[in-house]
Amino acid sequence: MQLFELDDLLGKLPRKRIGFYPTPFHKLENMSRTHGINLFMKREDMAGPGSLSGSKMRVAELIIGQALQDGVDTIITQGAYLTNSGMQFATAARVAGLTPILFLTRDEAQHGKLTDYRGNLLLDKLMDVETHYLVAPGSAYVNRPDDKERVLNAMNARKVELEAQGRKVMIVPTGGAYPTGFAAHVRTFMEMIEQARDAGVELDYIYHTTGTGTALPGMLAAKLLTGHPVKFRSISISHYQPDFWINEAIIAERVKHIFRTFSIEPPSDQAILCEIEVDNRFIGDNYAVPSPEATAAIKELAKAEGVFLGPVYTGKGFAGLLEHIRSGKVAPDSNVAFLHTGDTANLFEVSGVVGELE
Ligand SMILES: *Cc1c(COP(=O)(O)O)cnc(C)c1O
Repeated sequence: MQLFELDDLLGKLPRKRIGFYPTPFHKLENMSRTHGINLFMKREDMAGPGSLSGSKMRVAELIIGQALQDGVDTIITQGAYLTNSGMQFATAARVAGLTPILFLTRDEAQHGKLTDYRGNLLLDKLMDVETHYLVAPGSAYVNRPDDKERVLNAMNARKVELEAQGRKVMIVPTGGAYPTGFAAHVRTFMEMIEQARDAGVELDYIYHTTGTGTALPGMLAAKLLTGHPVKFRSISISHYQPDFWINEAIIAERVKHIFRTFSIEPPSDQAILCEIEVDNRFIGDNYAVPSPEATAAIKELAKAEGVFLGPVYTGKGFAGLLEHIRSGKVAPDSNVAFLHTGDTANLFEVSGVVGELE
C-alpha cells in the first residue's frame, strides 16, 4: 500500500479536529553534527491547540470524534497528578464542548503531599477541570490490583451519579488507551515519512518514548501496511514485561485491532512482534522520578537546539537514543527521527532537573 492510501483509510474514521496537523518536522543540525548522524525531530509537542501539547492530542481527536457521534457529553479519564494525557484530553474535551473530569493519583511516599498547582495540574485548573485526587503508590501506573480497582470504582461511581442526572459519560483509560484511538498515529507515521522525503532522506529509525502504548500501534500498523523498512526503537518509562499492564503482546493486539478497523487481515503475531524493540534500561529509579541520564539529555538538547524535553517521558527517551548512538546501536550517518511526544509542562513540575538556585 502507498502512503497516500493510508489517508483514505483514516478518512473513514470519525475525527474531531482539534490540533494543528501536520506537526513540524525538522533537522537538529547541531546534534547531527556532534553525533555523526542525521537527526530529525517530529514535533507532537507542538500539536496544539495550547502551546503545551503532545502525542495524546491525535488520540483524543479520534476518541472524541466517536464520542460526539455517540452523544457523549462528559469524558472522565485518569492519570498521575502530573499526567500529560489527562491535560490533553481535558483540553480536547473543552474544545469539543464536552465536560472533562480527571481522577488523579499521587504517590505521596515519592512526591509528598500536594501543596500547590504546577505543570499540567496548573493548566487543568486554568481550564476549570473537575479534579479528584487519590493517593496511590506507583502514580499513574497503578500496578497493584486493589489500587487499580479503587480508581476504577471512583470513576464509575462518578459516572453513575452523572448518568442519574441524564448525562452521557465516557471513561477513557490511563494514557488514552481506548481502542478507537489506536489508529491515530498512523497519520504521524505518514506525515513523518513524507516530511523526511521532502528533506531528501528515507528514515532508518524512529525513536520514541513508550508508556501506555498509544503511539506505537498506529505507527507500526502504518509501517506494516506500507512495507517501509524503517525500524522502531522504543524507550520505555515503565517496564514492558509479560503479565504486566503493558507489554509487547498488548501492542501487537492493538496493531491487529487497527488492521481490523480498516477491514484488512492483520499480519501474524510473529510478523508484528519482530518489529517491536523496547529498551527498559532508561526508566531510572521510578516513574516520574528524574534520572541523571534524562536530565543530561534534556540539557544537551536545550543547549544545542533550544528544544525542550520533559523529565517524565521525553528526556528518558532521548537519553536512550543518545546511549544507542554512543554504543553504536545506531550506525554513523543513519537517518533517525525522534518523536517528541510532549512532556514539556513537567519541566515546571519537576524543577529539580536544573538543580538549586546558585
Ligand atoms: C503518554 C506519553 C508517552 C507514552 O505514550 P504511549 O501511550 O506509550 O505512546 C510518551 N511521551 C509523553 C510525553 C507522553 O505524554
